[in-house]
Amino acid sequence: MKDELQTEVSRRRTFAIISHPDAGKTTLTEKLLLFGGAIREAGSVKGRKAKKHAASDWMDLEKQRGISVTSSVLEFTYRGYHVNILDTPGHQDFSEDTYRTLAAADSAVMLIDCAKGVEPQTIKLFEVCAKRGIPVFTFINKMDRHGKDPFDLLEEIESVLGMRSHPMNWPVGIGSEFCGIYNRHRSRLERFDRQKDARQLDVEGPDDPLIREEVGDLLADQLSEEIALLDIAGDPYDFEKIRNGELTPVFFGSAVTNFGVEAFLEDFLGLAPSPSPRESDQGLIQPEQPDFSGFVFKIQANMNPAHRDRVAFLRICSGKFERGMNVRHVRTGKNLKLAQPQQFMARDRSIVEEAYTGDIVGLFDPGQFRVGDTLCEKGSFQFEPLPKFPPEHFAKITNKNAMRYKQYQKGLEQLVEEGAIQKYRTFLSGPEEIIIGAVGELQFEVFDHRMKSEYGVDLIFERLPFRFARWVKGAVENPARLQQGRRTLCVKDDEEQLLVLFDSEFFMEHFIQQNRELTFAKQSD
Ligand code: GDP
Repeated sequence: MKDELQTEVSRRRTFAIISHPDAGKTTLTEKLLLFGGAIREAGSVKGRKAKKHAASDWMDLEKQRGISVTSSVLEFTYRGYHVNILDTPGHQDFSEDTYRTLAAADSAVMLIDCAKGVEPQTIKLFEVCAKRGIPVFTFINKMDRHGKDPFDLLEEIESVLGMRSHPMNWPVGIGSEFCGIYNRHRSRLERFDRQKDARQLDVEGPDDPLIREEVGDLLADQLSEEIALLDIAGDPYDFEKIRNGELTPVFFGSAVTNFGVEAFLEDFLGLAPSPSPRESDQGLIQPEQPDFSGFVFKIQANMNPAHRDRVAFLRICSGKFERGMNVRHVRTGKNLKLAQPQQFMARDRSIVEEAYTGDIVGLFDPGQFRVGDTLCEKGSFQFEPLPKFPPEHFAKITNKNAMRYKQYQKGLEQLVEEGAIQKYRTFLSGPEEIIIGAVGELQFEVFDHRMKSEYGVDLIFERLPFRFARWVKGAVENPARLQQGRRTLCVKDDEEQLLVLFDSEFFMEHFIQQNRELTFAKQSD
C-alpha cells in the first residue's frame, strides 16, 4: 500500500495555466489534452468558451462551455505521468475562485503572448504563485507571429515580475522569419515550417553546420551569438532554484501550430514537482502519508433551481481516497461518508472510485462545505486557511423587502461563508452599511441570482467607484483619519480586520506613502 501510494504520488503533476485572456490558454490546453489522448479532435475545448452572459443563463452556459463550469480539472496520462490541469477561468469569469484554484496547484505554467509580453491578469496570478513559492514554468506563445525581441521578453519577466529566467530553448528568427527553436538542453534544432510538419534535428551545438544548412547564414550567426550571450550573461540552469520558484524555465513555441508543445510537455513534466507537503495546524502533512486528507478550494453552485446541490472541489493532500470512505469534517467535527464523489474529464462527469494525493475530486455538497474546509481520515487537523484576495468590484447592498430580513441575513451569511463573495461593513459614521466585494464581476451576478433563487431575496445593488482594496495590518489608532473624502472607504471584514478601499491606484500608492507607519496587504492573513 505504501509503495503503491508512493508510486502514485511521484507520477502526479497538478498544475494551473496562468495567463491573460487571448494568450492562448484554451489552445495550449487543447494541445496538451490531445497529447494525453484525453480528447480526440481539436475544437473540443474551444467550443466551451464563454460569451457574455447573465447568471440566469447558467444552465445554457454550462452546456455551451461544458468543462469550464461543471468541471474544474482536466486529467490525462502521458508517458506514465498522471496529469491534472486545473482550470482557471479568465475573461469576465475571473473571480476569487481563479486565485483559490492556485492553492490547489503544485506548479503553474505561465503563458505569455510574445507580442504582448507580461499582461495585467498574468501579473496578478503570478503574484499569488510567487507568494506560495510554487514553481512557475513560462511558455512564450505565438512565435509564428511577429512579437517582441526574446531578450526583451526575458527582461520584462524580470523587471515586471521580479523573476529570473532560464531559456530552455531559443527561437531562430522571429515573426515571418521564425523557422524553429534551438533546444539548449537536448542540443536539438526543432524546425518550424509553415507548409510542412515540424522536424527535429539532433545537432552538436548551436554552431553545428547542419543548422546553417537549414536556416541560412544570417539566422545561424544570430543564433550562435545569442546562445553565446545567454551562456555567458544569462542565468544558468539550476534545478533547485526552479523547484523553489526562484527561477522560471522559459520555453518558446506556438500552441496553435502545435510547435514546441510536446517538447515543452516532456521537459515540464520532468521538472515540475509531484505533490508537495502541505502546512497544517499540526505541522506539515506529507503527501505519502497513508491516511487520506484534503481541503476544499472551490464550491460550485448549480444554478438550476431544480438542483440546488453544489459541488465542493477537494484537493487531496495525502493518502488514498476511496468512494464511500468515512472522513472527519474538521470544522464541524462531524463524520461524513463520501458517497458520490465525481471526477471530471472533458464533458463527462464520472464517478470516481479512487484517487490519490494531488488529484481533485468533486464532492456532492448539500450545503455543508465552505472554502478552506479540511477533511481527514484519521486525527483532526486543519490545513492552512485560504487567504482572501483583493476584490476589485464593490457594491453596497440593501434588502428590498424588509419582510424577508431573516432570509436576507441567512443567505448573506451562508454565501459569504461558502466563499462566493466577500462582505464588509462600514463602521465609522452613520448607520452600518453592507458592502460586498468581488474579484470578478461574475461573482456579483451569481450572488444576486442565488440570493433570489435560493433565499427568495431581492437585493438593491449600488455599485461603488472603488477598484482597489488593502488590508491594514495590526492595530490602527483613530481609523477615521484613513477615511479621506470620497476617495477612500474604511470598512471591516468579518474577522474585524480593517480594509481601505480606493478609487484609483495612483491615489492608493500616494496614500500608502503618506501612511508609512502602517502595513498594507493585498491579502488578508
Ligand atoms: P485564451 O483566451 O487564452 O484561452 O486564448 P485562445 O486559446 O482562445 O487563443 C486566442 C487567440 O489566439 C485565438 O484566435 C487562437 O487561435 C490564437 N492563438 C493561440 N495560440 C496561437 C499561436 O501560437 N499562434 C497564433 N498566431 N495564434 C495563436
